[in-house]
Amino acid sequence: MCGIIGFTGKLKAQDVLLTGLASLEYRGYDSAGIAYFKDTGKISLRKTVGKVKDLRAICDDDNNSTCGIGHTRWATHGEPSVVNAHPHYSRDQKIAVVHNGIIENYQELKTRLINKGFTFASQTDTEVVAQLLDYYYTGVSAGDSLDAITRMMMHVRGSYALGILFADQPGVVYAVRKDSPLIVGKAENGSLIASDVPALLKYTRTVYYIDNLEIARLTPDSIEFFNIDKEPVEKEAST
Ligand code: GLU
Repeated sequence: MCGIIGFTGKLKAQDVLLTGLASLEYRGYDSAGIAYFKDTGKISLRKTVGKVKDLRAICDDDNNSTCGIGHTRWATHGEPSVVNAHPHYSRDQKIAVVHNGIIENYQELKTRLINKGFTFASQTDTEVVAQLLDYYYTGVSAGDSLDAITRMMMHVRGSYALGILFADQPGVVYAVRKDSPLIVGKAENGSLIASDVPALLKYTRTVYYIDNLEIARLTPDSIEFFNIDKEPVEKEAST
């Protein structure tokens, strides 16, 4: 097991992500990384093999981004390495994904995408999710981001908690889960996702539980939930 954190709001995202990842260290991991919006239309990454303190050491102190996702990896597919560490980009770096869990049919999906001209940088099962999202977001039958996410969900088998950024939606974090833990927090200064409560406690005690096959869309001041049919789902907050 390993960890996911995500933030969008009024604080420096890098601080929230690194603090959140540090509080998820008890779950065990071999590498760590973050993705964040910095320059317009661009998602930036920092990844390392090692501990959260090693990740902190390669981050820029002047990173003022207010939205990003972070990950601690426990390798299941592909050795622990910087290339295999999360987040993973889609082919043109327009989408970034962090994933906990296992995509069981990744090989079959990877072969199908390679036949469509996609190239893969890592050995992970996770990269298939990023590329599949790209295919449904920008390919011949492209839809909107919610459409791309639900179509990806209908094609992958296995377990997943996912944090997703789209380069053309700065300030928005998507979260999805099936058979892997992921919760959403609403804080005074923004919205968060995390694998577990300890990563949120510094910022809020107001949490929402994402059910299996549900999607959350977070902005600095809104949290919406959808089912796999893209229908809005009403949720009560828990304390
Ligand atoms: N299966 C993915 C990988 O090997 C995610 C592992 C995890 O849950 O950290 O990269």
